[in-house]
Amino acid sequence: MKKLLFLSAVIFVFSCRGSKDLSTVIITSNEDVIMMSEEKIIESSAETFAEEIMEKEKWSCTNSSSYIPYDKDSVFFDTRIIRVNFHVMDRSQKDQNFREGTGEAEEYLPKLLENANKRLRKNFKMNLPAGNNTPQLNPRYQYRLVGNEPGDDGIYYHYDDDLYYFLNHGRKKNNYKKEVIFKYAVNSENVINIFLMPHHPDSVKSKTYKESNSGIALGTDLKLGANWGSKRERFWKYATLLNHEIGHVMNLRHSWIRNDGCDDTPEHKRNWQPGSKYPDGLTTNNVMDYNASQMAFSPCQLGRVHQVISTKGSKQRSLVVPDWCDFDPNTEIVIDREVSFTGEKDFNKDIIIEEGGKLIINCRLSMAKSSRIVVRPGGYLELNNCYLHNDCGDEWLGIEVQKQKKKVGQVRYSGEVIIENVKAISKTKPKS
Ligand SMILES: [Zn+2]
Repeated sequence: MKKLLFLSAVIFVFSCRGSKDLSTVIITSNEDVIMMSEEKIIESSAETFAEEIMEKEKWSCTNSSSYIPYDKDSVFFDTRIIRVNFHVMDRSQKDQNFREGTGEAEEYLPKLLENANKRLRKNFKMNLPAGNNTPQLNPRYQYRLVGNEPGDDGIYYHYDDDLYYFLNHGRKKNNYKKEVIFKYAVNSENVINIFLMPHHPDSVKSKTYKESNSGIALGTDLKLGANWGSKRERFWKYATLLNHEIGHVMNLRHSWIRNDGCDDTPEHKRNWQPGSKYPDGLTTNNVMDYNASQMAFSPCQLGRVHQVISTKGSKQRSLVVPDWCDFDPNTEIVIDREVSFTGEKDFNKDIIIEEGGKLIINCRLSMAKSSRIVVRPGGYLELNNCYLHNDCGDEWLGIEVQKQKKKVGQVRYSGEVIIENVKAISKTKPKS
């Protein structure tokens, strides 16, 4: 009885595309996968490809190393866009920051953001440790200035004598306080709110106060303390500070400390020190250290960023534009070698497993509305303790397993496999 039920869930479709011999089976549920195994449509062997791969590499869905956007896997990492907005904070005299209505901030801030994006894309090779072979990778994330409603450019002005200023030392120190964020943040759940705060003019007058550019990340929002008024520097001067603070928001710790969660960022005491002080002639250039460069992210750091972006329910994922929900029919991911998805993934396109290609899916995978996974004749798909779904409240089209004469697409499963949100197939097929 059970088996019959399974059978009714699978529909054979004779495709009109290509050769007349080509037939396809659509997998739409966990039961289909199990049923296919029972029906021996799939050839089985004692050891699965998943086991083979796991022998080779140590990984888990919850390890940040599974999320490193290595160049060889670049097609499996779409660039993620993080939303930001800016808040220009000033006192009622309106003399400490960009002046509203002049267009200054509207010209300057997009340039600052673009410069920060450019520096991310450059990502220098790590200076430390001496002689390292640490790969220099494309970070695959960028920022976008967004408003909250039509006509809103994402740049806001607030005049508040109590909350406009930034003080990072002294009795009235307020850099760590969140009041200004609670009061003025716009759509804080989905956007990094960046508060541009001048140092307090009374403090600046004091000879002991250093009006240095500094920042602090508080939850998913941040404050940048600087002279945003008469002594404002060129926009690019603040770009790496912004990358550093957003790094904190995206789960990065200071990289000179031992427990930053990354083995490829050595512990050191070289912040703000010239390389000439050391026998190896090197100082740090990591974004999450203090130095004049701040131009390098290590692979592990990028893995940590992409891990929080990929983790369903994380607060950082909510800050990212969910591009994975918009199906792109013009491109596809082609698997023509052995590939193992070891992290959670979100795709907006079809996955095509070609003859000779092997794909193993180990974690969560979201497939966009109307997208499919196609296993061509001679292709191989293994589902290993994975969760296939649509993260966007839509339906995808399932796994299409093709067969041509004696050549079959193979699908195997191991462990618990969950397949959800697949569109119910119309029973009016097959076509002739
Ligand atoms: Zn920091």
